[in-house]
Amino acid sequence: MQTVTELFGSNVFDDRVMKANLSAKVYQSLKKTIDEGKPLDLSVANAVATAMKDWALSKGATHFTHWFQPLTGITAEKHDSFISPAPDGRVIMEFSGKELIQGEPDASSFPSGGIRATFEARGYTAWDPTSYAFIKGKTLCIPTAFCSYGGEALDKKTPLLRSMEALNTQAMRILKLFGKDDVKCVRTSVGPEQEYFLVDKAMFEKRRDLVCCGRTLFGAKPPKGQEMEDHYFGTIKPRVAAFMAELNEELWKLGVLAKTEHNEVAPAQHELAPIYTTTNVACDHNQLMMEIMQRIATKHGLACLLHEKPFAGVNGSGKHNNWSMATDTGVNLLSPGDTPHENAQFLLFLCAVIKAVDDYQDLLRISVATAGNDHRLGANEAPPAVVSIFLGDELTAILEAIEKDLPYAGKEKTTLKLGVDVLPKFPRDTTDRNRTSPFAFTGNKFEFRMLGSANSISCTNIMLNSAVAESLKTYADRLEKAEDFSSALHDMIKKTIKDHKRILFNGNGYDDKWIKEAEKRGLCNYRTTPDCMPHLLDKKNVDMLTSHKVFTEKELESRCEIMLDNYCKTVVIEANTMSDMVRKQILPAVEKYLGEVSKTSVYKQQFVPTVSCAYEKETVLRLSALTESIFLSCKELEEAVIRLAECKNTIEESYAIRDTVLGKMSALRVAVDEAETMTAEEYWPFPSYCDLLFGVR
Ligand code: ADP
Ligand code: MG
Repeated sequence: MQTVTELFGSNVFDDRVMKANLSAKVYQSLKKTIDEGKPLDLSVANAVATAMKDWALSKGATHFTHWFQPLTGITAEKHDSFISPAPDGRVIMEFSGKELIQGEPDASSFPSGGIRATFEARGYTAWDPTSYAFIKGKTLCIPTAFCSYGGEALDKKTPLLRSMEALNTQAMRILKLFGKDDVKCVRTSVGPEQEYFLVDKAMFEKRRDLVCCGRTLFGAKPPKGQEMEDHYFGTIKPRVAAFMAELNEELWKLGVLAKTEHNEVAPAQHELAPIYTTTNVACDHNQLMMEIMQRIATKHGLACLLHEKPFAGVNGSGKHNNWSMATDTGVNLLSPGDTPHENAQFLLFLCAVIKAVDDYQDLLRISVATAGNDHRLGANEAPPAVVSIFLGDELTAILEAIEKDLPYAGKEKTTLKLGVDVLPKFPRDTTDRNRTSPFAFTGNKFEFRMLGSANSISCTNIMLNSAVAESLKTYADRLEKAEDFSSALHDMIKKTIKDHKRILFNGNGYDDKWIKEAEKRGLCNYRTTPDCMPHLLDKKNVDMLTSHKVFTEKELESRCEIMLDNYCKTVVIEANTMSDMVRKQILPAVEKYLGEVSKTSVYKQQFVPTVSCAYEKETVLRLSALTESIFLSCKELEEAVIRLAECKNTIEESYAIRDTVLGKMSALRVAVDEAETMTAEEYWPFPSYCDLLFGVR
């Protein structure tokens, strides 16, 4: 039995393995590429490729793949064998530097939003040496970016790496002003907390909605839901514990720092949190985590649901993106320091985030927008669709004192002078005290809570990194020219607080009063994906993202198109699944039961005319009426879907879905759910909410 320390990273071509298997010269130049982005020459790549292959073969691998994240939201891989023919008719196992650095998957079916015409459909993949290669099954997976031949990004990793570079460039300018000459780079770090549901696999298979859409489209409220809150942090059931144990082991082998796991609020809901790491690695790891969760669940006779809202009436699943910035020398830039100098630097980085979140609140909202997450944002378990920042009372009071030149309560009658005074000590609020805030400061990092459980965390971090890079750029431009650094800094921080305090809100984000207040403050409230997505192309957003070279205008247009198209397709599949279930399963089942009940009631009436049973009468009457309305609602839904063909473009289609299709889906569901409560269990064609939510023991 291997110990955890032996197990950890055993399937990863990490620094330890590189050091052991590469010559000192090759190792040094690879490190330069990894740490400083220096180009890699082919002789080094060849040496790395050979070492990687030998290591992979020793671990039983036979294939390699360029592993990438196309815009579909999942990860893609195309396996190639290491086999190469030898002159003597046998085979040798080969892997060249060229194959390591660049691949050409014939991946013409991935969405490109109009970037690639089919005649030039091939994209290419390019190795990302900053994320370690790993072995999955019998395949060596090489994390790569995916681009078109014109160099346009067709994936989520490319813009993420660009956004990290943008932030690095601007943060370095600021650190230089603070005299931090020893710092070589600034990286953002992320620790994403992942929520998910586990249900019994056999029951999952019986529900076409879960199989086709990942969420239930029907389901009457169970007698018991989450009202007792007895699942939250409760004892983990043996089957789930076995799943978690194996999941941890698999993740550890891949170097994923899976750390805590617990039951969540809703029955059958759980959470897994890793220890944070560099953003692009965290993104790769989160994608791997989601994939492996689903695979291990199957092995345990379970289905892992990553959908944001698998069940109506119980909490949905989100993902908390804990985010910070740190130097290569190990300084967390969002951690308040002990000296006046450190305090001033902390406040500047803090203000850069505040300004970024206010100026680009729409981009943050857009970064989490999917048909699935729309069900969650603004419903009572998730933060609203309005972005705001929670700082906690103490830090807010400090900022207020700075803004207004007022003495801070902790200081005796003197006002704070940045760069001269030490900040008063304030307790580090690392708890989840305000769970209703979409963007909360938790002591030394920010926690962005609007992400859906199925979202790739790349999208959010691309926007966050870029927006913060933009604030830092504005600051650096000003400070580099300043005659008196300290007073310029003080004024700038004051101005940021004044200009952006509308985004600060420490109260209850679930309160309706807040939504009204937020609108008064001029904050965006984009409730749905069609409401927010087109704003990706607003001039201010295009200007910012192109100026930092995170996206080209063409890439933004294509992403907007792809995201809206994805929204439309998701809902249309759901609508089609509903009508399929209604026509082939639900109506026939209700009819059968109705026939049974009316048969006995007619039979009794015939022989004993005075006997009339209320149960039979009411059931027959109500179920007949419901069958009628189910049938009519279903037809209306089908017609609404057909009419989508008349829409002139994707935006128009997404509006039609938002305004007509979704409403008809709800109406149909209401009728079906009532029918479920009146139909005998043995007639109902698929497992109920009660079966699903409490079925894993
Ligand atoms: P909480 O009190 O919210 O549980 P934790 O310290 O447990 O706080 O952190 C929750 C998540 O935040 C974990 O995934 C953790 O790794 C991550 N995290 C902690 N520090 C940082 C940081 N500096 N940058 C990014 N993520 C971080
Ligand atoms: Mg959290």
